[in-house]
Amino acid sequence: MKSLQTLVFLLGFILISGTLSAQQNPVMLPVVSSRINGINIFGKPVDQQTRCVHWHSQLDVIAIKFKCCDKYYPCFSCHEETADHKPEVWPQAEFDSKAILCGVCGTELTINEYMGSDNTCPKCQAAFNPGCSKHYHLYFETDGKVIGDKR
Ligand SMILES: [Zn+2]
Ligand SMILES: [Zn+2]
Ligand SMILES: [Zn+2]
Repeated sequence: MKSLQTLVFLLGFILISGTLSAQQNPVMLPVVSSRINGINIFGKPVDQQTRCVHWHSQLDVIAIKFKCCDKYYPCFSCHEETADHKPEVWPQAEFDSKAILCGVCGTELTINEYMGSDNTCPKCQAAFNPGCSKHYHLYFETDGKVIGDKR
């Protein structure tokens, strides 16, 4: 009978640890409807600071307005998965347009302001993800150069 008790104990342990690890690693984040400072965030946001199912670290707090549809999305993948058209990048001549939204304070930055911000919101000092600069070419016309990446 001792071995049966051990078996029951082990089974219980496996069940409990399985449940715990499932809670720590959610497979799907719930998509919520997000509106920041009166601006609707499209795509698949998961909170009210522009994080999305694709990018949701502490630093992922900006949304980008797409040139093609004039709507804010948390990221390129959000646009790809939910918009019904191909994305367009912002031409350099329009880098003075407000196209970046800080999810922490709700301020809209122009593309030039964002690129010159050193990954910190000029209004609320929130830290932006410096890795975003690797993806500038998805949103902005860059002539193939990597701009804004100081590393
Ligand atoms: Zn679009
Ligand atoms: Zn996304
Ligand atoms: Zn801010």
